Amino acid sequence: MTTPLLGQSAEELRIWVESQGQPAYRAQQLHRWLYQRGVRSLMEITDWPKAWREQVHSVPVGRSQVVRESSAPDGTIKYLLAGADGETVETVGIPSAERLTVCVSSQVGCPMACRFCATGQSGFARNLGVHEIVDQVLTVQEGFGRRVSHVVFMGMGEPLSNLGAVVQALRVLNGDIGIGQRQITVSTVGVPGQIRRLATHKLQITLAVSLHAPNQALRFKLIPTAQHYPIEELLEDCRDYVETTHRRVSFEYTLLANVNDEPRHARELAAILRGFQSHVNLIPYNPIEGAEYERPGEERVRAFERELIRHKIAASVRQTRGLEEAAACGQLRRRSPTGVVRTESARI
Ligand code: SAH
Repeated sequence: MTTPLLGQSAEELRIWVESQGQPAYRAQQLHRWLYQRGVRSLMEITDWPKAWREQVHSVPVGRSQVVRESSAPDGTIKYLLAGADGETVETVGIPSAERLTVCVSSQVGCPMACRFCATGQSGFARNLGVHEIVDQVLTVQEGFGRRVSHVVFMGMGEPLSNLGAVVQALRVLNGDIGIGQRQITVSTVGVPGQIRRLATHKLQITLAVSLHAPNQALRFKLIPTAQHYPIEELLEDCRDYVETTHRRVSFEYTLLANVNDEPRHARELAAILRGFQSHVNLIPYNPIEGAEYERPGEERVRAFERELIRHKIAASVRQTRGLEEAAACGQLRRRSPTGVVRTESARI
C-alpha cells in the first residue's frame, strides 16, 4: 500500500508532489491542508486543479474514522478510531481552562501485559503507523474546536516498542503541527535498550517511566516483562537519559491498595531515587474488569505523597480524569475489529 500522506514531512511531501509532475508550491498547499485544515481526501483541496485532484483522489491521506465518541461529566471525551484495516484504538481529549491535552495510543492493544492495566489484558494486535498517531491529535483538535496544547503518550500501547513511528510522530507534532516538545510526554514501562535509543534523538520531550514498585521483586509481580529488565538497569538508563538530554525524568507510580502503597514502599522508593533529577507522579489505581486490585483511599494516597516529600522526593498525585467513561489511565481497551463495540456511552 502507498504510504499515507499524513505523517510525512514538508520535504517528503515536496518529493511526492514533484514525482507527480506538479510544481513544488503545491506541496506547501498540501502541507497546510493536511496539518492545519485536516483534510480527509485530496478531493477537498479546492486550490488544486480539479483534473489533478481526480487523478490522485485514491492516494490515501491516512485519516482514521471516528467510530464512537463518549464524554464524561468532567468534559473529557474518548474517541474510538478505526484505521484502514478496521482495527480500533482509543484516544482521549482532556480539556482544562488553559490546556487541551490528548492522551494518544501508540499500538493496537499492548504486548506488555501489566496486571493492573486493561490495555495489557486485552492483548496486542499491531503497531500504529505515524499517520494513525498524528490523526488522534487532529481528531481531538477538530472535536473540541480548539488547538491541542499538550500530548501525552499514555493511551494504549507501549511507545518504546514502536519507537520508529513514535519518534517520527513526535517530529510531526512538533515541526508540522506546532506543539512544543516540552508539551509532549512519552510514557514507558521500559523496554531494554530503547530509553538509550530515544536519548540519542536528543528531543526536549518529557520521559515518564512507569515504575510502580520500589524493588525488582514487587515490580516483577505487577509487570511480567520486568523480568528481562532489572530495576537497577532501568534506573541506570534513566540516568543516562538525563545526562544526554538534560531533561528531568518523571516516574509514574500506580498506587494499589495494600500492594505497593505502604509508607515503607515510599521510603524504599525515595532511597532508590535519591540524587536523581526526577518527579514522582502518583496515580491512584483506576479499577478495571477482572483485576483483583483496589484503589487506596484518599488519606493513604496523601500519606504516601507526604512520605516521599519528607524524604526530599518531588511528588504529586495525578488528578483522575474521565473515570466515568473508562477513559482514565489504564482503562483503555482493545475492541473487536468487527465493529461490534460495547456501548459504554449508554452508561452516561
Ligand atoms: N505503556 C506506557 C503507557 C501506559 S498508560 C507505560 O506503561 O508507561 C500510562 C500510565 O497509566 C502508566 O504508568 C500505566 O502503568 C498506568 N496505568 C495502567 N493501568 C492503570 C490503572 N488501572 N490505574 C491507574 N494507572 C494505570
